[in-house]
Amino acid sequence: MKIKTKVIHAGQEPDKSTGAVIPPLYLTSTYRQEAVSVHKGFEYSRTGNPTRKVLEDCLAELEGGKFGLAFSSGMAAEHAVLSTLRPGDHVVACRDMYGGTYRLFEDVFKPFGLEFSYVGYEAEEFEQAAKDNTRLFWIESPTNPLMHLVDITAVARTAGKKNIKLVVDNTFATPCFQQPLNLGADLVVHSTTKYIGGHSDLIGGALVLNDGEWYEKIRFIQNAVGAIAGAFDSWLMLRGIKTLAIRMKQHEENAMRIAAFLEDHAMISSVYYPGLPSNPYYKLARRQMDGFGGMISFKLKDGDLAAANRFFKKLHIITLAESLGGVESLINYPAVMTHGSIPEQQRISIGITKDLIRLSVGIEDVEDLIIDLSEALSL
Ligand SMILES: *Cc1c(COP(=O)(O)O)cnc(C)c1O
Repeated sequence: MKIKTKVIHAGQEPDKSTGAVIPPLYLTSTYRQEAVSVHKGFEYSRTGNPTRKVLEDCLAELEGGKFGLAFSSGMAAEHAVLSTLRPGDHVVACRDMYGGTYRLFEDVFKPFGLEFSYVGYEAEEFEQAAKDNTRLFWIESPTNPLMHLVDITAVARTAGKKNIKLVVDNTFATPCFQQPLNLGADLVVHSTTKYIGGHSDLIGGALVLNDGEWYEKIRFIQNAVGAIAGAFDSWLMLRGIKTLAIRMKQHEENAMRIAAFLEDHAMISSVYYPGLPSNPYYKLARRQMDGFGGMISFKLKDGDLAAANRFFKKLHIITLAESLGGVESLINYPAVMTHGSIPEQQRISIGITKDLIRLSVGIEDVEDLIIDLSEALSL
């Protein structure tokens, strides 16, 4: 099955008892047992819920993996992965990544004895940073917010040689545009809050993997800790996924036009979008992705917080807000907003400078978006 068919049907069959075409929303905390421990596969909704199960199976199929797990947020999903490590274990991660992930590593798991190193975007850097106690390589591709790409196949090869597992945060690309497990990764992370949900109306996270033993460990943590995706949020995610393929296509089409517009604009000093032929990652994107996505970052010429605020104020359609991946266009000032939890010096060394702006291109009419940007950029 192709991805456009999978987003409609994966993990879902008409309901056996009623024929309902859409998987029902099971708003129940518990399930009747025929006799002690004799039941239909569900006992208590923290452990398992039929609506969440459909979502988990659907996500697994979309990513080409065996097992899916749905959580209450992307951070909760990441927390579950790191909880399978032990004090003294070491993780090598990309320098540029979601600020909340950096905070989870440094402020939650480091105090519990995990070690973290941060490197650039080349497989050799991961190889050099790996030590005897390294358990995970952790990457985003494209990265948030600077849109670096990592050669997933190359890093997976390095990881495999050293018996290290490779985790890929696939939030930006979605399974429509990139399937890390098929490129050799061991586990895929999603903030389903973003493109998977797609309508800026829920917070959620997910994991997909093939290793049954690791899956059982994470599932144990999911149930023991309890940061599960609720039934209603699971149902909304399933609803969102139905249009994931057509949304991603439109996000990309609009982003291509806007990236080209920004690249030619006198007020813009840099544009970071892998779909631009001038982008250093263009070739790699063509090789490992099926689309370039809807995220663009750019720098305002001589920009700072005040200039960014003047620009944001003049926008009428594009909304200043955290988050990304919804049908509406959202703009963000990473240094203070999404990446404010990274210490200033570190942030600047990564390239998250005071002139940097991140745009999540929505699926509105692209002409309207370009007019909005054009007017806001004019003096
Ligand atoms: C938003 C985001 C997260 C965190 O997910 P939440 O759903 O906000 O908890 C993790 N990774 C990336 C790339 C994100 O954009």
